[in-house]
Amino acid sequence: MDYYSNQISQLIEQLASLPGIGVKTAQRLAFYIIDLPEDRVKKLADTIVGAKHTIRYCKQCLTLTDQELCPICNNPARNQKMIMVVENPRDMTAYEKTGKYEGVYHVLHGAISPMLGIGPGEIKLKELMLRLEKEVDEVIIATNSSLEGETTAMYISKLVKPTGIKVSRIASGVPVGGDLEYIDEVTLLRALEGRVVL
Ligand code: ZN
Repeated sequence: MDYYSNQISQLIEQLASLPGIGVKTAQRLAFYIIDLPEDRVKKLADTIVGAKHTIRYCKQCLTLTDQELCPICNNPARNQKMIMVVENPRDMTAYEKTGKYEGVYHVLHGAISPMLGIGPGEIKLKELMLRLEKEVDEVIIATNSSLEGETTAMYISKLVKPTGIKVSRIASGVPVGGDLEYIDEVTLLRALEGRVVL
């Protein structure tokens, strides 16, 4: 990228380092940004920095939020005794879009992966076990159907079973290896309704 001046190259490099953005898209975005009025560019930059400063983990479910409790945990209409365990906030959003789930969530921020060296201590399992010390009726494991997701599901079920709390796993209507966030709402709902007790 020597034919661009240093500043432009840096902007392209920064944009290209984002997930899903190749060099071509990064170039297009870079020139688009440079053409924007200065106040728009400032607003964009300030929004990014502001989000980074204010967004944190929900105190209860650990999803990303700008409040102490996320809107779902804070909603008195949600069943606090039913906890759906998901790998990341995007999977939680996928289930929220169905509009049919009335419980709350727990976001693990990852899955156990011996291959990548991610052990149980690296995801938010301790926090889940702490939540189970309160009154909970059911833990629904909705990790992905990848090897990592299944490993994590098995691990969680072993942890939860001795507590006597009902543990279930969403049905395998979800394709093997499939990320929850890419699955349509009908399939997600069917997987939830057809969940099996472990
Ligand atoms: Zn929450």
